[in-house]
Amino acid sequence: MTLRKTSVIGFPRIGKNRELKFASEKFFKGEISEEELKKTASAIRLYGWEKQRKAGISFIPSNDFSFYDNLLDTAFLLSVIPDRYKQLNLSELETYFAVAHGYQGAKGDVRALPMKKWFNTNYHYIVPSIDGQTKIQLASNPKPLFEYNEAKAAGIQTVPSLIGIYTFLRLSNYSGGLKAEDFVEDALNAYAQLAEQLRKAGAEWISIAEPALVFDMSEQEKSLFKKIYATLVGKVHATGLKVSLQTYFGDVRDVYAELTSLGFDGIGLDFIEGKKSLDLLKSGFPKNTLLFAGVVNGKNIWRSEYEKKNAILGKIGEYVDPQNIVIGTSCSLLHVPYTVDSENILSESIKKYLAFAEEKIVELSDLASQDEEKRKQNKALFGEERVQKNSSVQQALSKLSEADFTRLPERGERKKIQKDVFKLPPYPTTTIGSFPQTADVRANRAAFKKGSISAEQYKEFNRKKISECIALQERLGLDVLVHGEFERNDMVEYFGNNLDGFIFTQNAWVQSYGTRCVKPPVVWGDVHRSAPITVEWSVFAQSKTNKPVKGMLTGPVTILNWSFPREDVSLKEQAQQIGLAIRDEVLDLEKNGIKIIQIDEAALREKLPLRKSDWHSEYLDWAIPAFRLVHAKVKPETQIHTHMCYSEFGDIIKDIDAMDADVITFEASRSDLKLLDAIKESNFRTQVGPGVYDIHSPRVPSVEEIVDALHKIIAKVDKENVWVNPDCGLKTRGETETTASLKNLVEAAERLRKE
Ligand code: GLN
Ligand code: ZN
Repeated sequence: MTLRKTSVIGFPRIGKNRELKFASEKFFKGEISEEELKKTASAIRLYGWEKQRKAGISFIPSNDFSFYDNLLDTAFLLSVIPDRYKQLNLSELETYFAVAHGYQGAKGDVRALPMKKWFNTNYHYIVPSIDGQTKIQLASNPKPLFEYNEAKAAGIQTVPSLIGIYTFLRLSNYSGGLKAEDFVEDALNAYAQLAEQLRKAGAEWISIAEPALVFDMSEQEKSLFKKIYATLVGKVHATGLKVSLQTYFGDVRDVYAELTSLGFDGIGLDFIEGKKSLDLLKSGFPKNTLLFAGVVNGKNIWRSEYEKKNAILGKIGEYVDPQNIVIGTSCSLLHVPYTVDSENILSESIKKYLAFAEEKIVELSDLASQDEEKRKQNKALFGEERVQKNSSVQQALSKLSEADFTRLPERGERKKIQKDVFKLPPYPTTTIGSFPQTADVRANRAAFKKGSISAEQYKEFNRKKISECIALQERLGLDVLVHGEFERNDMVEYFGNNLDGFIFTQNAWVQSYGTRCVKPPVVWGDVHRSAPITVEWSVFAQSKTNKPVKGMLTGPVTILNWSFPREDVSLKEQAQQIGLAIRDEVLDLEKNGIKIIQIDEAALREKLPLRKSDWHSEYLDWAIPAFRLVHAKVKPETQIHTHMCYSEFGDIIKDIDAMDADVITFEASRSDLKLLDAIKESNFRTQVGPGVYDIHSPRVPSVEEIVDALHKIIAKVDKENVWVNPDCGLKTRGETETTASLKNLVEAAERLRKE
């Protein structure tokens, strides 16, 4: 066996102990200088390079670091910075942060550029903004060159990794009738100049990432892609550099033929999420070209099973000269935490199944070396049963039938029954669930977790908070109340903590946006609820009022989407297991007198496949039923609500209706009214509460503003179906603005009732 080569697309860059996060926060508060922040960043980069060098990685990336996000870096690399930020006259780094966060201070007042989810991950990017003033040109001190030199000075040869022109232009926002095609020429020149500089500095390869090739592509997009690379490959070669084109998060079925005929020296394909990647190879792969084969999952946290990986590599070897196969990760390791070594509480028996970034690069070199001993150890690990199946869960799953997913009677009939039960006024008012998580609320949870107060003290405090929250809502005149969620830190972690089958890490942070990190729970085994979770709080809250209090749960799809899922069982089965557990909770709430139950599916849209053709078969066909499973068994008079954070669901509106909830509330205050049109056109039957004000800002909306929003809503939605509520939970808001805003919200609803 020849020794194979290895490559990494990107390494985590938040710092093993989130050093970048803490340093950035200090910098924003003016506690450290820009120089000190840059020093921290430099140490983080060197740490990653050193680890990869030690693991013997052949192609180590540079420029994968970012102070905020790599697409924003690319915007700065190409001077795509709207004038209003430049006019602030800040340092380059401060200008960069002004674009990411907004700026309010002595030099001006500008809002941040919008942020969007990066493909199908929970990582977000800042959307570059291209307008009439935009003139694409290479930045004077290009970040890729700086980082290449930095690594080289440390004795490490790296491959500068760039986001490609196609992806950059495809993800940017345009104004003034401009379009991607208008900027190709300048972008090509900038990349060619950069290649020249990198080559002069000593680089041998550059890697250009074009993940946008895994979307469905139109003819126009395909020709844009071809146009860019028909020129760029030659320009890069003219400098003496080799160039690889890296893709990830799926396969490139729409442009494979073009991609393989453009003269790249290397092509990176994803064999984890790219369902068709292997088939594509069968149609041919160019000779003397490296295939960067993404076979180690860059998104999940499980150890690789070497036997399976070798089998895939073997199949790839039927179409590609094995000498030309480079073993790599399926995407950047940015989406996994640093190292399992930082977990001091998890037992060894669990840790041995986990592989974070540092473990994954060792896997790459194990796979490359074909070391017999390592293979044996790995085989032994996978020979054991990792988890015992839970027989009661398995039995419940096997008994599921259509009836478990079908709520009866049908919606119209339920609506009549519920109308009689609740006797709510027209335009009923409610909130999404959480109330301000003030410092005392967090301190109470922390004290209980540390063991410095007793369970009874902890509960007593929460009961007091709930009582106050109910009293406040009654004073404000809201119609359907909530308990306030004071016992929860996070809507997913809370349920994960209280269900069997999840494990929790101590330090396994992954970046979500900027330096914000999340620590997703891990689905470890069969999920099961062994005892009621929320019933005590909901029953207590309900005892304090004659108005209905909503039980408040998180739905199975959201719990799954915000966790690291198992790989030994399908997502569908995991969603069903979680669905059954939450169903138990729903039925217990109902049994204990809770008449309205909200099951949040905040993240339902998040894992929608990147290709439209996969939406149903790969996702919605199990995700929507998983939600129905949770509530199908309730009585006709029990009202089921759900909540979704993003209003971008115009294109799956039929599926949202098919969740068969009685009421859905969602974020609509910041978006245009397109969704209302979709609601109208699709004859949407679920009652709707499009958020009438934005809770992401401390601003108090006036009564007139809310009335105005409601007028726009009832112009499109049957009045009978309209609820009035904020657009998301209030937990990040202060108490004063919350009370003021809700007061105006209730008054606006009252005004509408009088019209
Ligand atoms: N019920 C949750 C809350 O109000 C919903 C949070 C969310 O949608 N992200 O906080
Ligand atoms: Zn929300």
